[in-house]
Order: sequence, then C-alpha cells, then structure tokens
Amino acid sequence: MSSDSAIIKEHPLPNCFSPELLMISRGEGVWLEDAAGRRYLDFTGGIAVNALGYGRDDLAQIAAEQIKKLVHISNLYITEPVLELATKMIRRGVGKEPAEGADTGRGGTGPSESRRFQAVQFLNSGSEANETALKFARLYALRARGEGHHKLLCFSGSFHGRTMGALSVTANPKYQTPFQPLVPGVEVAQYDDVQDLESKLDGSFAGVIVEVIQGEGGLAAMRREFAAALNRLCRKHDVILIADEVQTGLSRTGSFYASEGIGLEPDIITLAKPLAAGLPLAAVLIPGKINSLIHVGDHGTTFGGGPVTTAVASRVWDILSDPGFVAQTREKGEYLADKLNVLAEKHSFTGGVRGRGLLLGLEILQERLAGGGDGSGVMPSLLRILQEQGLLILRSGGNILRIAPPLIIEPGEIDQGIAILARVFEQVESGSLKLTT
Ligand code: PMP
Repeated sequence: MSSDSAIIKEHPLPNCFSPELLMISRGEGVWLEDAAGRRYLDFTGGIAVNALGYGRDDLAQIAAEQIKKLVHISNLYITEPVLELATKMIRRGVGKEPAEGADTGRGGTGPSESRRFQAVQFLNSGSEANETALKFARLYALRARGEGHHKLLCFSGSFHGRTMGALSVTANPKYQTPFQPLVPGVEVAQYDDVQDLESKLDGSFAGVIVEVIQGEGGLAAMRREFAAALNRLCRKHDVILIADEVQTGLSRTGSFYASEGIGLEPDIITLAKPLAAGLPLAAVLIPGKINSLIHVGDHGTTFGGGPVTTAVASRVWDILSDPGFVAQTREKGEYLADKLNVLAEKHSFTGGVRGRGLLLGLEILQERLAGGGDGSGVMPSLLRILQEQGLLILRSGGNILRIAPPLIIEPGEIDQGIAILARVFEQVESGSLKLTT
C-alpha cells in the first residue's frame, strides 16, 4: 500500500472538512499510524485532547468494565463515578500554586490560598461548557442583582466554541459572519489591555469570559497585570469571571490550571479537552454563590457526565493532577521551548516562540516566504510537508505553528520532532524545498 492511499480524496463529510483527509488507524504513546501503515509523531495531541497518549490499557479496561456494569442512566440519578470525580475536582479547588509575591487584585498576596468550588456540572464539549458558564453568569446576575446586568464581555482573538452562545463570545469574523445575528448583549474588549478593560467593564455586565492563553488565537498570553485587573474589576462590579480552560486546563501549560500560573481568580472554570483522555466530557466548576441560586431543572443535558466518561476521567484526573506530573510537563515544555528558540534564531522566516508548558507556538513570517503569491498558502503547505515527513503539527491564528503533543511525550521524542522541523526549515531556507504561496 503506498502512503498516498491513506489520503481520502472523496469523503461523505460536509464541506467544513478539508477535501483531502489523512486516514489515521491507530496510535500508541505519542505515535500514530495511518491506513497505509505509515507512522507519525503526534505534535497535535488531537488538538490538546490526548494528554495521556494512545493505546492505554488502563483506560480501556476502566471503560470496558463500566460499559458492562452501567453505560447510561440519565441525570435523574447519580452514579459512583460521577460522585467520585466531582468530589475530587471540588476537593482540589483552585489557586494552590504559590504566586511569586504577586498582587492578584482581590486582596491577599496570591493564589496560594485555595478556593473551593461547590459543584460540578458535567457536559459533553468545550462549547457546551462555555454555554453553561454564560447561562450561569446571567442566572447569577438576575437572581443576585436583579434586572439590567445581562451583558457579557469577551476579548479580541478569543475562541470559546461554535454553538450559538459560545460563538457569540468568539470575537472572530471568520467564525461568526455566516451565522449572524448572534446572541445579543455581547461586547468585545482588547485582550490583555488593562486600559480598554477598565473603560468597558462596569456593573451592566453579568460575566466576562477569557482564556489565559488564546489556544486558537495565535497563543497570545495574558500578563499578570491583566489577570489582576480582571480579578479586581469583576469583584468590584460583582461580575462573574469565567476562565475558559478548555484547552489550557489540567496541566497543559505547566500549571494545573493556567489561571493558577498567572494569578487569575475565576469564579467559574470550564474544562473539556483532556478531561476524559479523548472521550467527550466537559465540566463547569461552580462556586457556592452561584450554586445556591440554581434551582432544580434550570439546566441539563442528556449525555453529560455519564458513568463511562466520568469513570475514565477519574483515573485521568489522578494522573494529571499529581504535582509531579505537572512539574514534568513544565520541564518538558521548557526543553521544547529552548529547542524552538534555537530554530527561531537560526531562520530568517521564523519569529518568536509563544505559549507555555506543552502548548507552544512558533511564528512563521509568511511574507518572507511569499515569493510571487500573497503568502496565504505558506502555512497549509508547511503543515502538509511536515505531515509527509512524519510529523503532525497544528496551526493557531494565521501564522503560528502550534505544538500540543500528548503530555507523556519523552525528551527523546521531542528531539525527533525538532529534527524533522529543523530538516524541513533548512530546505526551505536554502530554497531546495518550495512552499506553495
Ligand atoms: N474553548 C477553547 C479555549 C477551545 O480551544 C475550544 C476548542 N478548540 C473550545 C472552547 C470549544 O470546544 P469544543 O470544540 O469541544 O466545543
């Protein structure tokens, strides 16, 4: 079988998928195999989902046993796995990472003081978690503060999902334009701009939704000053601060929650991608002040928090929340960032390295490679060539190569990926390999 035979050129998926798709058949550790038996190093992690890699016997066994025991029961009942997972999530709380003496804007000296959540709402996707968080922010505003505080604030470059509510706070015309009109009452402020935030956020808002690192928006990261301003202003106006940690949460950035690494003190955290190691599970962590205002039947979902996904997630949680695992992720991230910095300095068409932990990006200066074209073909062409060379890698924003491998990746495997990048970059630099522009 030639490797080309793993490229599916006609498929029955809608046109929002690429017309040509590589068919992946199986995986083990950080390696994937296509339908023709070719192996790839996975720097995508299923877009920051597969934190524990592929082919895990431990997770397969938990899922298989739970399917046999009880596969689904509805939200009319509670199951052991749900109870166990939610209890662990609440018990851990947020804010345990010591802050280096930073003023967090909410009084006190930092997030070392742990704050607990009171309840966890389980859902099925990042979008649904953000929908739910936005609904709870509005519910709190109405029931605690009365009418007239319904507005939602989001930021330039954000990505919070594709369902109508989550899309409405995703400030990107590429995703929003075909689906207008969106949910009303949304305003946009400049990301990481304290002055703009101060000029816009007031008591007419119910909630603010923000990413600590913009996973889809070019890996821009907020500074501590911005986190402190969010803490201070949300507290001042009694506005619910929602940290969308769908991509950054659960160790990915080298902090268990990215919020903890920067001193952000959210009222609500949303989680999804790695929570059940590839099975669909999302969560909204809810504080007592909101939970006390939620009534039976205010919200719900058929599949969210089923016994199978939560049983798997319970094991995933134990692994990812181990401080030793978090520290290792941070160290591997530093190792990868050092290697990327070497590449960035060497080549005329690379810009800076961005991101944190194992959510890293390398800027590609497309205009320097544009040749006769406008440069818009550079990134797809580069991703395709890297794929042909055995490295699967992501894009973020317009021109950032994004790396989000399984967190179990070993330094030697990072070296293998860097070697492929280095080889391809050399060929591009010397002109022996031409990218489509
Ligand atoms: N928020 C963030 C920060 C994300 O990165 C994503 C997915 N890329 C979402 C929300 C939406 O998650 P889902 O695709 O599971 O709905």
